Amino acid sequence: MAERIDGKAISAQIKDEVKSKVSELKNEGIEVCLAVIQVGNDPASNVYVGNKKKACEYCGIRSESHELPESTSEDELLELIGRLNADAAVDGILVQLPLPEHISEDKVIAAIDPAKDVDGFSVNSVGALAVGKKGFRSCTPAGIIELLKRTGIEIAGRECVIIGRSNIVGKPMALMMLEQNATVTVCHSKTVNLRDVTSRADILIVAIGRPKMITAGYVKEGAVVIDVGIHRNENNKLCGDVDFDDVAGKCSYITPVPGGVGPMTIAMLMHNCVSKYL
Ligand code: NDP
Repeated sequence: MAERIDGKAISAQIKDEVKSKVSELKNEGIEVCLAVIQVGNDPASNVYVGNKKKACEYCGIRSESHELPESTSEDELLELIGRLNADAAVDGILVQLPLPEHISEDKVIAAIDPAKDVDGFSVNSVGALAVGKKGFRSCTPAGIIELLKRTGIEIAGRECVIIGRSNIVGKPMALMMLEQNATVTVCHSKTVNLRDVTSRADILIVAIGRPKMITAGYVKEGAVVIDVGIHRNENNKLCGDVDFDDVAGKCSYITPVPGGVGPMTIAMLMHNCVSKYL
């Protein structure tokens, strides 16, 4: 039976490290501040923004809240970002996605000063990752690297297969695993014979967005399986892209849903808010 990778415990450890850094900075008269912008009133976004603010509070980071109406124009939002870019008291700027349809997410993300892009979504941040330069790392894949390292799982030289090539998970994940010296393969909806490819993986990272699609038949005996997916099943219970009960009997380590990758995303956001002081 596989060992569960405890994302809750590891994320708590990271938040505690951030908390102690923030308190050290406070003693030096420095206050860390994250500006959180939400446009409209999407219920899922309300939950995500609420969780991010709670994490800030726990770590001692000041969260400056900008709750804007759905009718906010693109120019108004860009103007606010311009002001926050210029405000030396703001360390990080987070724009909760999705934005209303009349606002271009690309334009908004591009407007954030790269030095404050704590989500790591901008072309600048992803480009820095691609060429191995310093910059903000996208929180979910960066969290997965921490999960692996802090569980003592060797990455260098191992065969890593990632299912999914989205800009926020799959692609930056591939770059980060490459940076850690894994041999990386990225699969997507056009991949032929997916099972043959995934069965080669020492480390299988699944970000497909399809509930419980990955069963034991996709997994090599003794592999490490990381499940990024989050879904609600027919009984309103959370589940991932991996069929946990089926796969856990075959692999060596596995992340549960909930309590695996999920909590790491916010922990890494907190880490990114203080990273310039580390
Ligand atoms: P996307 O829908 O953007 O990407 C899904 C990827 O999976 C695409 O690259 C797609 O291929 C590929 N894919 C879809 N179906 C198949 C298939 N049958 N075979 C092989 N590949 C397939 O999803 P995200 O990356 O944004 O998210 C993935 C999952 O992770 C979701 O469940 C999401 O909710 C969750 N998530 C969790 C986070 C967390 O904090 N834990 C954070 C972000 C996401 P193609 O490119 O060809 O279409």
